[in-house]
Amino acid sequence: MAKDTYTEFANTPLGKRLTKSLGLPQPAKLRRYSPQAPLIPGTVVVLGDSAASEAIAQQLLSWDVDVRRHVGAKEKIAAVVAVFDTVATPGDLSQVTLELGGLLKQLGSSSRVITVYRDPAGTEDPAARAARKGVEGLTRSLAHEMRAGGTANGIILEENLDAAAPGIAGALRFLLSGRSAFVSGQFITVSSVNGSLPADWSRPLEGQVAVVTGAARGIGASIARILHRDGAQVIPVDIPAAGEQLAQVTNEVSGTALQLDITAADAGQRILDHAEQHYGRLDIVVHNAGITRDKLLANMDPARWESVIAVNIESQLRMNKIFLASEFFSRSEPIGPDGGSSGPRIVSLASTSGIAGNRGQTNYAASKSGVIGMVSATSAQLQARHGTINAVAPGFIETEMTAKIPFATREVARRLNSLNQGGRPEDVAETIAFLASPAAGGTSGLTLRVCGQNLVGA
Ligand code: NAD
Repeated sequence: MAKDTYTEFANTPLGKRLTKSLGLPQPAKLRRYSPQAPLIPGTVVVLGDSAASEAIAQQLLSWDVDVRRHVGAKEKIAAVVAVFDTVATPGDLSQVTLELGGLLKQLGSSSRVITVYRDPAGTEDPAARAARKGVEGLTRSLAHEMRAGGTANGIILEENLDAAAPGIAGALRFLLSGRSAFVSGQFITVSSVNGSLPADWSRPLEGQVAVVTGAARGIGASIARILHRDGAQVIPVDIPAAGEQLAQVTNEVSGTALQLDITAADAGQRILDHAEQHYGRLDIVVHNAGITRDKLLANMDPARWESVIAVNIESQLRMNKIFLASEFFSRSEPIGPDGGSSGPRIVSLASTSGIAGNRGQTNYAASKSGVIGMVSATSAQLQARHGTINAVAPGFIETEMTAKIPFATREVARRLNSLNQGGRPEDVAETIAFLASPAAGGTSGLTLRVCGQNLVGA
């Protein structure tokens, strides 16, 4: 992993003064998740007077958060939740938006703004849809304006969804917490009442078994560690050539390694057999293994094109078919005290290159856009079993993959986002752990970016 010397310098007293006076980027030290730390270090103001805003305030109170409807002009606050779920025309946006604006200067470092609103596609009324889309635009713009490591994101509620649905609480908690340190300008859609809140928020994956492909290093190793920390038993998978590193990660997470090339025709079946033999169950699959073979399309050769498509998307399609056809993975079982049920979870790695495109990456971007398409097309099958499938699209993440980028290009790439720094593998892993957790059971078919609001592309 390449060192980010600039961010280190910018956080010294001299660096802070210098970067400020020269108008240079000021990357803040981000608040990251620790099971021991409070959910959010300070007061949370909930704006809006709908039933949904009341339900959200109650939910926060049940987590012992210092929740307020109003604060004094000088009081420091840690987050604002702005609830817009009843807006019917763009004129309705003013009150809550301007109240929110009046609070921004009171936000501390690594603060959070979360907007909550109904799905624009849920209404055919032009004024109502305009108002709802308006929340999206203001949230994205505010994310660009946040300072000192603060983020702004939205939670989109399906048209008739009850505000007490567990998925709303799950998304709220993820966005307030340090788990979402590198997620900004993004939206989490909660479309069903599926899912449940864990008894112990520090071990949301207790009792579950997860397979992580490409787990010998980089983002995959981090995913294995974080799923393990959250209570899951982990099966790290990687190619035989990465056996030594794979064994090391497996030891760390007290898991059982599986050496496997995911492009093999029997890869899916071997994963199922391994899980059945060692644990008797499989709950979560993380398709993380991926490769780049960059070349301008004018110079692209068949081997570069075909290997990237084979590893990054075709293997996932082939394995999913096997997983979804198997009763062993593809079952749903009762969970929680409220009679809910939980089914299989799949999380796949896309990339911001698959959203915005990237010079030299036609092959990689085709495979990663492919992942986004695959996830949305597979969602109905998973939801029918009370399961979910989602993708995570990382932006610039500090790994061995990105350490190979020449210095100047790397320095530009890591500053080109609203947080002025590269993300860490654990930022991607925390988002994956959230999507795999019972509390995210209402979210499926989504691609969530972990990119610090990368300025390139959508
Ligand atoms: P990495 O190269 O550090 O690790 C990838 C792992 O996948 C390696 O251990 C490798 O051995 C394994 N792998 C490759 N082909 C395999 C195969 N056929 N079968 C089994 N294992 C195989 O990459 P990373 O940076 O940790 O990236 C992980 C994922 O995140 C990839 O899908 C990548 O495309 C995606 N991603 C990374 C970034 C970034 O900035 N690093 C950005 C966007 C997306």
